[in-house]
Amino acid sequence: MKIETISVRVGRDIEAATGEVAPAVHLSTTYERDLDGEFSRGYSYVRPDNPGRRALEQCIAALEGGGDATAYSSGSAASLAVFSLLRPGEHVIAPIEIYHGTAKQLRDIVAPMGVSHTFVDMTNSEALRAALTPKTRLVWIETPSNPMLNISDIETIAELAHGRGATVCVDNTFATPVWQKPLELGADLVMHSSTKYFGGHSDVMGGAVIARDRGGLSDHLRDYQGTAGNVPSPFDCWLVRRSLTTLACRVRAQTHTAEKLAHFLHRHRRVERVFYPGLESHPGHVLARKQMSGFGAMLSFCVRGGRDEAFTVAARTKLFTRATSLGGVESLIEHRKSVEGAHSVTPENLLRVSVGLENAEDLMADLDEALAGLK
Ligand SMILES: *Cc1c(COP(=O)(O)O)cnc(C)c1O
Repeated sequence: MKIETISVRVGRDIEAATGEVAPAVHLSTTYERDLDGEFSRGYSYVRPDNPGRRALEQCIAALEGGGDATAYSSGSAASLAVFSLLRPGEHVIAPIEIYHGTAKQLRDIVAPMGVSHTFVDMTNSEALRAALTPKTRLVWIETPSNPMLNISDIETIAELAHGRGATVCVDNTFATPVWQKPLELGADLVMHSSTKYFGGHSDVMGGAVIARDRGGLSDHLRDYQGTAGNVPSPFDCWLVRRSLTTLACRVRAQTHTAEKLAHFLHRHRRVERVFYPGLESHPGHVLARKQMSGFGAMLSFCVRGGRDEAFTVAARTKLFTRATSLGGVESLIEHRKSVEGAHSVTPENLLRVSVGLENAEDLMADLDEALAGLK
C-alpha cells in the first residue's frame, strides 16, 4: 500500500458492533476479564495497551514501513525511550546540530546514568568513523537538521555504524515518511515528534518510535513504554490518528509553497543566505535528491545584518506567527538562537520558518513587506 492509502485505512477499521465509519474515542482505563480470568479481547488496562493507541501505532508503523511502532506522550519521551536501550558504560554518537532538547537529554539525563556521548558533524562520515568506539551502541541521525537543514547520508552512516555493531536511529520529524524512509536506507529505528507534522494542527503533543523489525529492539521499547507510562492519552491518540489521514496532502502542499519561498528568499537582496535542501546552492542538495523524494516544508534564512535585523523582520511579518514548533497548518517564524540556549551554534541573524498551508503568493508578499523594513 502507498502512503495515502495507509494514512486513510490502516487502524481505521469499521467498528463491527455499530458500523461507525469514523473511529470512536475509547476512554476506558480498564477491561473486563473473561469468566476464566483471561483477556481474550486483547486488552486489560489502559497503560500497556488500548484500542486507540494500538490503531495509531499500527498506522505509524505502516507509514514508515516498519514492523512495529510505540507511541509516547511527546517526541522527547520518544527519544528518551530510545536512550533507554543503553546501559552504563555504553556510548552514543549524535550530531552537533541536533534538536536542542535531544542534546539536553544526553547531557542531563543519559550521561549521569553512565552512558557517554560524542557530538560529531554527521555530514562528514570521516568524523563519524573517527568517533566510533567498541563501546558505541547507538548512532543518532537528524536529517534534515534543525535549523540549518543539513543533510546526513543515512545509508553510509548506517553501514559504518552496523560495521561496529551499533544501532542507528533517525529523527525523521522534519522530513516525515512522505519524503524520507530511513528504514529503507538501513536505519534500525525512526523517531518522531508527533507534535509536528503528524499532529499537523498545533493542538496535540505526541511522539513515536518505529522499529524495522518486530522482536528485539521493538520488544524492549514496548516493555519500556508500558512500564515507564510516558504514553499519550486516548484522546491525543485519536487526534493524531485523525490528522494522519491528511498527512500526505498537507506535507506536499506545504513543501510546494516552501520551495517557492526558498527561491524567492534566495533572490532577495536583503537576504544573506537561505538554508533549504531543495536549492542547488545548498551543500546537501545532491544527497537530499538521492535519499529524499521531496525537500520538506522547513527552511531557514539569514537576513543581512544581525540579531536586531532578524527581530525586525520577524516583528513585521503579519502572516507568519512568531512562535516555536513546526509542522502545523499556520506558518511560523522563529529567531532560533533565542530558544536554543547556551550551547547554540546557530547564527544570530537566522530566522527559521515552518511553512503552513496559506497561499504562497500571500506569504511571499508578506515576507517582502517585512524585509522592506530593513535599511
Ligand atoms: C519538536 C522536536 C522534538 C521534540 O519533540 P516534543 O514533541 O516537543 O517533545 C524532537 N526532534 C525534533 C526534530 C523536533 O522538531
